[in-house]
Amino acid sequence: MTAVENGPGTQELAGKRALVTGGSRGIGAAVVRQLLDAGAEVLTTARSAVGTVPEGAGFVAADVRTRAGAEALAATAREVLGGVDIVVHNAGGAQPHEGALAIPDEEWQDALDLNYLASVRLDSLLVPGMRERRSGRIVHISSAAVLTPVGPFLHYVAAKAALETYSKGLALELAPFGIRVNTVSPGRTATPGGETTREQWAEVSARMGGGSDLTNAADTTPLGRDGRPEDIADAVLFLLSDRASWLTASNLIVDGGEFPRG
Ligand code: NDP
Repeated sequence: MTAVENGPGTQELAGKRALVTGGSRGIGAAVVRQLLDAGAEVLTTARSAVGTVPEGAGFVAADVRTRAGAEALAATAREVLGGVDIVVHNAGGAQPHEGALAIPDEEWQDALDLNYLASVRLDSLLVPGMRERRSGRIVHISSAAVLTPVGPFLHYVAAKAALETYSKGLALELAPFGIRVNTVSPGRTATPGGETTREQWAEVSARMGGGSDLTNAADTTPLGRDGRPEDIADAVLFLLSDRASWLTASNLIVDGGEFPRG
């Protein structure tokens, strides 16, 4: 029998240096854990270390919503890791409002900064090193909610839609340099952020008279449960691994069949 050389449980990312945004809890922490298990050296970030930054990962506090935050993070990553081979843009989220017109201007900007421009800025700082080495792997975390662009979260969903388009375009531009860029779009996943969002959404939709109540639209997904952070991390790790060496510009929707496409 041939020994398994890559796949879960192997050191398939040994020697790779990875930066994960938002790794102090939820999906980001699961990605960090799986990267460490796969043998990668990992640096992660959040605005504060409150949460559960997995043991073995480096941590630096940074706010990825600003250019200054991205520059500080990229500089630390170069200093601590000596270069970055893998980036997972995971930090994201937004507060719901009573419909699209109730979203204040500054929250549109904030949603764009966190869910879209943070990736654009950080990539602009880290991709040049990857291009020089003619190798790199990038995953952007979007959301399956792009398929249901409802008012209370329109700022968030519009920003994620922009992220998906950007991710695809960047992938095409970087393919000749051996850099693969993909997107993972989670459905509803049991995380601290996901839970808070659902509670806020329920309150907002109650105030709206139930008109936008997606909390009751489906009690569960076709596969009978919400996602676990590890379900999303599994997809991310696959895309980062050599098993996905012919995959770029893709968007892997991991949602238990909640939003079937095509
Ligand atoms: P959580 O809210 O549970 O965790 C978010 C992480 O990002 C935390 O570590 C948080 O730390 C960090 N973060 C938030 N804002 C910033 C910032 N400005 N700068 C740096 N770090 C930041 O999120 P989830 O795990 O639920 O979601 C992860 C990703 O998956 C997000 O992009 C989200 O949009 C997406 N997603 C999640 C779904 C779900 O149901 N959970 C569904 C679809 C998509 P801190 O607050 O200390 O900064």
